[in-house]
Amino acid sequence: MSEKRLKFAELLIGWQRKHGRHDLPWQKRRDPYLIWVSEIMLQQTQVATAVPFYLRFIRRFPNIAALASASLDEVMKHWAGLGYYARCRNLHSTANIVFRDLDGLFPRTAEQLNQLPGVGRSTAAAIAVFSYGARAAILDANVKRVLARCFAIEGNVNSGPVASRLWALAERLLPLAKVEEYSQGLMDLGAIVCTRAKPKCKMCPLQNRCRARRTGMTAELPARKALPAKRSREIHVVLVRDKKNLLLVKRPAAGIWGGLWSLPEVAHVHDVSDELRRRFGLTGDADSVLSGITHELTHLSLHIVPIVFRVVRANGKLKQTQQHTWVTADSLGNFAVPAPISKLLKTQLQQSPAGHTG
Ligand code: SF4
Repeated sequence: MSEKRLKFAELLIGWQRKHGRHDLPWQKRRDPYLIWVSEIMLQQTQVATAVPFYLRFIRRFPNIAALASASLDEVMKHWAGLGYYARCRNLHSTANIVFRDLDGLFPRTAEQLNQLPGVGRSTAAAIAVFSYGARAAILDANVKRVLARCFAIEGNVNSGPVASRLWALAERLLPLAKVEEYSQGLMDLGAIVCTRAKPKCKMCPLQNRCRARRTGMTAELPARKALPAKRSREIHVVLVRDKKNLLLVKRPAAGIWGGLWSLPEVAHVHDVSDELRRRFGLTGDADSVLSGITHELTHLSLHIVPIVFRVVRANGKLKQTQQHTWVTADSLGNFAVPAPISKLLKTQLQQSPAGHTG
């Protein structure tokens, strides 16, 4: 294997130097904080989408102290739009652990990094390799695809036995030196050349040793996980408005848009008045159902139908709590709101005039 390993690594490193990515914003410094943030963002997000979020995030939270000192709400606000919000909650927890328990210093080995919330085995290896030049194997989705094709590994790459086989292979192929360039090469090859659809095999440094290419199996490998049929769901959200303000509620930590600020939801259109009286002591008119929008999630088509509710009387003052708050249209930007709700609010707030409080 050592001969093979050497050749495999040589080909990848040579390709990476010429054609790989060298100017990504997190590649400028060997700073574990910056690399950790980028790796967490890249877990479920493409590079092109992640870059503007990363730059904005790092401007606001330039180091571990800034991130650990910020409230989760503030951090969520800078994550809103990236999705998979558990990543953001874990990021905030890890920042607190590193800042308060580890004197602000990230652990140096992949094994130790792997203990932090939200830092899986491949992410831990990537942080150790790119921050400290450690020798550790990575196996993210791009790398799994390259290895499954090159070595014709069949079966679901995320299932236990196949994933174990891929990890063993990733370990065996790992060169003794230049691990940083090699790892970046594997990731870049998967992202740029060995893409899910229509891989550009003619540009690939591994084309002469790739079994999938030789056997015409590039479209079949890696095997796709059988996805459950996509479901559709309709939800009713309420634009509760008094003279100048709009009501936002905090969503539960678990589930879709966990921990973000959103509009109150009701099960049925005719429940609006009862629900708002019961939950917030508000009386008013639910007077219009507006045209909704559809938001596509991996397993779900979510049709969001907005209803306007004008507050006529509030039982006492309009209260703020940890779980709900009143905001003006101008201050909405200070809250972490899910992207589809934010989009919906932008159009609906102009169309829906404010109500009146008695
Ligand atoms: S030859 Fe094609 S399928 Fe094989 S690793 Fe390269 S790009 Fe992927």
